[in-house]
Amino acid sequence: MAPFWEAARRHELVVQRCRGCGAHRFPAREICSRCLSRDAGWERVSGRGSVFSFAIMHQVYHPGFADQVPYAIVVVELEEGARVLSNLVDCPAARIEIGMPVEVVFEDVAAEVTLPKFRPRRRDA
Ligand SMILES: [Zn+2]
Repeated sequence: MAPFWEAARRHELVVQRCRGCGAHRFPAREICSRCLSRDAGWERVSGRGSVFSFAIMHQVYHPGFADQVPYAIVVVELEEGARVLSNLVDCPAARIEIGMPVEVVFEDVAAEVTLPKFRPRRRDA
């Protein structure tokens, strides 16, 4: 997953892509589940997608997150097809819907760590 985090530091979103059948996938895997090829690389994707699934976290599992609850964990289905687990920001929990258009944003949390997150996007954007 190192290429993913390196790209995030450059504010780019990359996912693994099979060189056998062209399918994008995430997280990284050894073997393509569609064509069984072991040949894959990392490619930049648009960062646009839609909410495939989500959960709202109310429980504080770590004191560091205490001021963030409730927060949303989303599975975003990218336009390219891969599904990415992340957080949804800039959106009240009650407004989150399955199928809602989202786009990637990058949160620099430390000098060496940038987290790709998602925010709502206008349907025509
Ligand atoms: Zn494949």
